[in-house]
Amino acid sequence: MEKVAIITGASRGIGREIAKTLAKKGIKIVANYNKSEKEAKELKEELQKEGYKIEIFKADVSKKAECKDLAKYTLEKYKKIDILINNAGIDKYQLITEVSQEDWNEIINTNLYSAFCMCQEVLQNMIHNKNGCIINISSMWGIVGASTEIVYSISKAGLDGLTKSLAKEVGPSNIRVNSIAPGFIETDMNKEISNQEKIDIINNIPLEKLGKTEDIAKCVNWLIEDNYTTGQIISINGGWVIT
Ligand code: NAP
Repeated sequence: MEKVAIITGASRGIGREIAKTLAKKGIKIVANYNKSEKEAKELKEELQKEGYKIEIFKADVSKKAECKDLAKYTLEKYKKIDILINNAGIDKYQLITEVSQEDWNEIINTNLYSAFCMCQEVLQNMIHNKNGCIINISSMWGIVGASTEIVYSISKAGLDGLTKSLAKEVGPSNIRVNSIAPGFIETDMNKEISNQEKIDIINNIPLEKLGKTEDIAKCVNWLIEDNYTTGQIISINGGWVIT
């Protein structure tokens, strides 16, 4: 039977690439978006034209009630959820002294609380089916910490904590939970980075190149196929950080 996947933040960047990759594998996709409705509609049109199964659903996943709506829509439409990709995320470059309560809430709720809520919403169905694959898109900054991205780094370290704890809790129900921790992937998230800054970054990467959204989607594809990996933080960063 065809698998069903929810991907949060699938309108652009890494989430969009994951949606395309999984749809082309024959998985039924519910692609979540929040602000980028035009991009989400284009994605749906492009994939449906090629005969793949994709629905789009607007939800601000930083809000628990909207996570509930996203899971409910998927269950009503497809009756089950096999795969959850917690990908939606935002970043802000700030010194710790510049971080307001609003900044903290916005970043933590979008990057971490969203994943926690989405896991709560899908798990009942996954546990019932004794089958599930949850992938959290974290970041190498959650592992090594980033100056001027302190709340982002905290949110991603928290996401990896969620991965490890939940993997232990739901492993007996045959549900695998893993993080993918990307390095520098060329998307809108990095559009403010200048060419000179990119060259400086590349000079610190053993593989001497930046990452592409496809590099992350390939790992998602592999994790979905796998059945013995759980609780792991998988680094995809060209060797920029080796722990
Ligand atoms: P991006 O191009 O800026 O895309 C971000 C996506 O997240 C968009 O589809 C956006 O949807 C969605 N999103 C943001 N807030 C949301 C909310 N409240 N509710 C629902 N969706 C929301 O960023 P990206 O580079 O693809 O990043 C994807 C994930 O990878 C993030 O978690 C990021 O932290 C992580 N990551 C990226 C890099 C990198 O170098 N690019 C490195 C490490 C980790 P809308 O536009 O529709 O609102």
